[in-house]
Amino acid sequence: MTNKERTYSLPVLLYHRIVNKHSVIGKHKIYVWENELEKQLEYLKKNGYETITFFDLQENPTMNLKKKVLITFDDGYEDNYTLLFPLLKKYNFKAVIYLVTQVNHNSWGVNEGEPRINMMTDEQKKIMSDYGIEMGGHTRTHIDLSKCSETQCLNEIAGCKSDVEKLTGKKAISFAYPFGGINEAVKRVTKQADYIYAVSTNTGPKKFGVDDFQIRRIEITPKTTMRSFKNKISGYYFYPSFIKSFFTGNQTK
Ligand SMILES: [Zn+2]
Repeated sequence: MTNKERTYSLPVLLYHRIVNKHSVIGKHKIYVWENELEKQLEYLKKNGYETITFFDLQENPTMNLKKKVLITFDDGYEDNYTLLFPLLKKYNFKAVIYLVTQVNHNSWGVNEGEPRINMMTDEQKKIMSDYGIEMGGHTRTHIDLSKCSETQCLNEIAGCKSDVEKLTGKKAISFAYPFGGINEAVKRVTKQADYIYAVSTNTGPKKFGVDDFQIRRIEITPKTTMRSFKNKISGYYFYPSFIKSFFTGNQTK
């Protein structure tokens, strides 16, 4: 397989919380309903998609990415254990969860009027990690790294990595920048801290594999309909329709 094919498209999905009652949803729309998530996972399963993690990519960097999808969850909320984990087991899917290692709730969100939501306990994180869910870094305190000094960045990025590794007994190889806060210095510190991959929000090259330290993700929100979900994971999501038809018309097996 050529490098060009490898970089063609791997949808990397971004989720935060899973909810099943109105009282906890908050105003930032960083959740999906449990039943909506199940519909999305069911769609992936029925259509032959396989979920992979960065561990899988590290082990097999030239793997065929056709019908692969990488599902990520930021922050490490308790609902990832109570609501997401049973669904992952049901569909035999994997995911990557990005942990904020030195908080027990969403302190940064509470400051902005979000409801207080607990993070997973260390025990819950360990159980999911042992099952095969990849645990990655998301800083120690959920700080915007683009506004930090280099020393502070190093503590938040490398410190978080060692916290995750101590907890799981496994290498933390991928990292998610909180708030998508990235600049060249932040990326450099993340590389120096020995991560192998880092994901952003909606910035970075549109093709997977071009910049392993600014991997663009596709956010799934409560507004994402099944139709737009299908478009998003189809791999053509980022291209205008005339280019889309070009790809569709020229696809070979
Ligand atoms: Zn976050």
